[in-house]
Amino acid sequence: MSTTELPGTTPPRDAAAVDAYLADPTRLLAEVEETLLDRRETVTPAQAYALAEVDVDADLAGAGGDGTVLDALLALAHRVRVAWTSEEVALESIVSGKTGGCPEDCSFCSQSAVFDSPVKPQPLLTVDEVITAATDAQRQGASEFCIVYAVRGPDERLMANILELTAAVHEHTEMSVAVSAGILTPEQAQALRDAGVVKYNHNLEAARSYFPNIVGTHSWDERWETLDLVRSHGMEVCSGGIVGMGETPTQRAELALELAAFRPTETPLNFLNPRPGTPLAQREPMTPRQALHAIALFRLVLPWTLLRLAGGREIALRDLQGAGILGGVNGLIIGNYLTTLGRSPQDDVRMLKDLDVPVRALQDVL
Ligand code: SF4
Repeated sequence: MSTTELPGTTPPRDAAAVDAYLADPTRLLAEVEETLLDRRETVTPAQAYALAEVDVDADLAGAGGDGTVLDALLALAHRVRVAWTSEEVALESIVSGKTGGCPEDCSFCSQSAVFDSPVKPQPLLTVDEVITAATDAQRQGASEFCIVYAVRGPDERLMANILELTAAVHEHTEMSVAVSAGILTPEQAQALRDAGVVKYNHNLEAARSYFPNIVGTHSWDERWETLDLVRSHGMEVCSGGIVGMGETPTQRAELALELAAFRPTETPLNFLNPRPGTPLAQREPMTPRQALHAIALFRLVLPWTLLRLAGGREIALRDLQGAGILGGVNGLIIGNYLTTLGRSPQDDVRMLKDLDVPVRALQDVL
């Protein structure tokens, strides 16, 4: 039985209310602050759309403020993060259980077999490989370990692999295990829950209105239904998306609001890293300021969530990783991503130490 509002309920954009906010960013910021920090409520759809569409380079000096709208948004996002979650940043390591050869056609993904990408199919990860990866991740400070499979959904052989690897990580580390393996059946969701998988990742990827531009082989509604299934079987929902794929700022707000309706425990925020051979290969990455704007937007619309910087952050944020941490982020994926190299975990841990931001658990790595 569905536990979540049916898809198709993207909150409407009240043009008059949004325009009034856009004409007066100082009022927008003050009302968002009052909503989130004084009343401890979530932002209204009009506020969310205005936060996405506001000119972040506008100077607030003339309005009695200080700096640009972006400066103010990031400062507010940080205060909201601390008030709604904690000072701590959680580190997670991901490992690819199955790389490449996916039959789906997600335009951003180098693991799709539909495109002529340099990423070629690899055999399934073995127990020994996962134990090595998991113990390394724990030593580097990760408190969670996520095994990710490039598939539409698991078949019998893949389910057996997932359950075997999950048991191995539990046996050799203290980390909690998350899994990402596409579209599930109710029986598969139950089996994962029984195996002690605490969290299941399945990103909505894009706003419902933009999703057909990005994926043709499955629908946004199918993604939504899997999230609903995961939650109804007692696992935490981890769901986010990718920004910078050509969506409008309004559609970025739509995605944030659609996710908010689901109240995910965790929201990975990916930035398009244009991969060779994919349909989005020629798209320009976001600028660091655009990426920071997206971070602040997602924090302000999803104040409770573990907002985790994920793939593409090195490309989009460049040297402004720290500004993201002080702009609403409270989670990082450390080490390499599924098919691209990330910064070294040591660089990330040092950055957090320099920022005086505590890392959740495993303080000894510092
Ligand atoms: S995003 Fe996932 S489902 Fe889509 S092509 Fe890549 S691996 Fe397959």
